[in-house]
Amino acid sequence: MILLLESEKCPVCGSPVKKENLKSHYAKVHPRRAGSLVQPKTVPLARAPSAFRSHKKKNMLLLSLIVLAVMGVSIVAVEFVAANTLRMHIHPQLSITLNGSPVQVPAQIGIDPSLWKDHSLDQYGLSGLAPIHTHDTSGLIHVESNTVRDFTLHQFLAIWGQPSDGSSINGHPVSSVSVDGQVLPSATQDVVLRDKPQQIVMTLAT
Ligand SMILES: [Zn+2]
Ligand SMILES: [Zn+2]
Repeated sequence: MILLLESEKCPVCGSPVKKENLKSHYAKVHPRRAGSLVQPKTVPLARAPSAFRSHKKKNMLLLSLIVLAVMGVSIVAVEFVAANTLRMHIHPQLSITLNGSPVQVPAQIGIDPSLWKDHSLDQYGLSGLAPIHTHDTSGLIHVESNTVRDFTLHQFLAIWGQPSDGSSINGHPVSSVSVDGQVLPSATQDVVLRDKPQQIVMTLAT
């Protein structure tokens, strides 16, 4: 550092002048340039960082906006994927009889708007279907949900448009309900839906 300073030359006349003596050399030898020794150095130095800083600020702002946008899109994407990921898919079997004869469970319960009366569980459904629905008239109930949770027989009946307390179907009072051959103590007791071979039999009275 000292060597560099000592070997410095006057930029005007080229004569060797120590840096600390440059000012007095200018004052003595080049009085007109005395002011320019400080000025050209301080002006670019003062301007450069501020220009750089403002660019940096703009870049940081732009970068922040891009990061926020990416985060926003990611959150939306994650939520979309979460809402559309099938996490539960079970098939209990429902059979309904009236005077010993089978009562058909309609197809498209929870899919056809006329067979989709209760919408309180729609948030768990996928692809625009209720989370509890039927595809055909076999009585096979499809539980297809984006969340693993308990769904019940009464919730299925409510979606279908039957009384949600399980008291009647198509206007006929429910006289008994059995699950896997076991008759429930009360005909209006709710049943948590389980995967097949769960067999739910509802018997109606006239
Ligand atoms: Zn389905
Ligand atoms: Zn299914």
